[in-house]
Amino acid sequence: MPLIQINAERLGQHIHDLAQIGKIGETGVCRLALSKEDRAGVELVKSWMEEAGMEAYIDPFANLIGVWRGSDSGTPVLMLGSHVDSQPYGGRFDGAIGVLGAIEAVQTMVEQGVTPACNVEVVAFCDEEGSRFNKGLFGVRGMTGKLEADELERTDKNGVTRREALLEFGCDPADFEGYTFQEGRIGAFLELHIEQGPVLESLDEPIGIVSGISGPLWLTVEMTGFAGHAGSVPMSMRHDALLGSAKIIVALNELVCREPSAPTVGTVGSLRVFPDSRNIIPEKVSFTIDLRDIDICRRNALEAELLSVIKNVACEHGLTYTIREDTNSDPRYCANWIKDALHKEAGMMGMKPPELMSGPFHDSLTMSYVCDYGMIFVRCLEGISHNPKEYASPEDITLGTELLFRTARQIVVDKGGFQT
Ligand SMILES: [Zn+2]
Repeated sequence: MPLIQINAERLGQHIHDLAQIGKIGETGVCRLALSKEDRAGVELVKSWMEEAGMEAYIDPFANLIGVWRGSDSGTPVLMLGSHVDSQPYGGRFDGAIGVLGAIEAVQTMVEQGVTPACNVEVVAFCDEEGSRFNKGLFGVRGMTGKLEADELERTDKNGVTRREALLEFGCDPADFEGYTFQEGRIGAFLELHIEQGPVLESLDEPIGIVSGISGPLWLTVEMTGFAGHAGSVPMSMRHDALLGSAKIIVALNELVCREPSAPTVGTVGSLRVFPDSRNIIPEKVSFTIDLRDIDICRRNALEAELLSVIKNVACEHGLTYTIREDTNSDPRYCANWIKDALHKEAGMMGMKPPELMSGPFHDSLTMSYVCDYGMIFVRCLEGISHNPKEYASPEDITLGTELLFRTARQIVVDKGGFQT
């Protein structure tokens, strides 16, 4: 058997052809969720699903689903996929390789005459990115019964509601009513995705096996001091909210860097100063904290330390403060049996991919609440993503897709493929 059994040329052609829809510049794409470009992309991908031997349809949440029937349609399905919507200034590979790679995996199995024991479904989830309506993972949350109350009334920057956009796309939100997700319907989910970070490149590895997705802790901290004239108030008498905030920001950085081998990351990405004037001592400063770790115990311990730093700094500078928790997601780990299967299949390809965690979230994050999941990462140039400069080489994408194909084949031909 050759090392590469998938059709790398066909896969490359599909990636190229999809990137022509909503193309910006030479290498970028803009296919905002539920836009005309998104619809055109979905139609093209649907035609490839049908060519591969699947029956394809679009569900009420605008997810594109291709079904390859197995010998026992009553058993849980193996689901493969990702998304084909993009950021407004996005790249060709984010999401796309997970959908097109999954189609390639199925098509290769069909061509090899494999009879799957269970149904295999390939999904292009609607609106993973969340950039148009400021809330992502829409399709996957819809499919798994996890939408929130005001979801359809969210508007884009032109005032178009998601309800209107869905109707325009050809999906009727009235159909949500009769829809209930059947627990246990999905046996496992596999997602191929570009890493969107620099770890694999730094390790000189083409692909990696994901250990889990680290959920973020998002806080908004507001420090309040007392404004005064920058020329007259002596240093010893100041209550400078920005100085206090600066100490907290530096302390956060020191805390998350303390264990250099750990994947902990902490970021202050937004800062607002009041009254924001060069000759007034800052009275009020609010800033955001994004703290992530695959190890929830370590993340909780760091959070506790950070809170004591904030308390001490406030005390030292005579400040008061409030802390608002905006998001607190637990890390979600990949299933051990899927990781084992990925390692075993990679071994047969003569590879030893490293395990790494995912800082960004993916459709897999939502899927992890309804089934076991596994992810394969493909190295991307300088870790650049959400940018037209995003690049993953055809060779690396081929290796990732080959591993997806081999692992999926192993699961569907082996009757005991789904383990608990
Ligand atoms: Zn993505």
